[in-house]
Amino acid sequence: MKDCIFCKIINKELPSDIIYEDEKVIAFKDINPQAPIHILICPKKHIETINDLKEEDKEIIGHLFLVAKKLAKDLNVDKRGYRIIVNCNKEGGQEIYHIHFHFLAGKPLGKLVC
Ligand code: AMP
Ligand code: ZN
Repeated sequence: MKDCIFCKIINKELPSDIIYEDEKVIAFKDINPQAPIHILICPKKHIETINDLKEEDKEIIGHLFLVAKKLAKDLNVDKRGYRIIVNCNKEGGQEIYHIHFHFLAGKPLGKLVC
């Protein structure tokens, strides 16, 4: 998608601090971290929001969770704990319309405040 920042990161047209990459998924550090570890995990397929998910995307969404699990182990926060957040649309706080997991860890994250 031409004007999508995350597609540009995926296509290496924009720099990023890549933590993990495979055929279908990329994970890179959030530019404005909200925790000591704040990684964004994105499918390489441009899907705008949760609302746009199709039956055929089941596998890729499952894959995002497995990448999150792997990162947690690799970064040694699997036992301590971590949080995954997915924002959807304006009131959900979404700013970049390319679906992504926020992977947050490295400190006690407390209760979700809304
Ligand atoms: P969301 O509000 O869920 O759409 O999250 C978008 C996230 O992308 C925010 O946490 C931003 O800090 C992050 N972000 C925006 N631009 C970049 C970038 N060029 N590289 C890494 N993270 C970014
Ligand atoms: Zn995109």
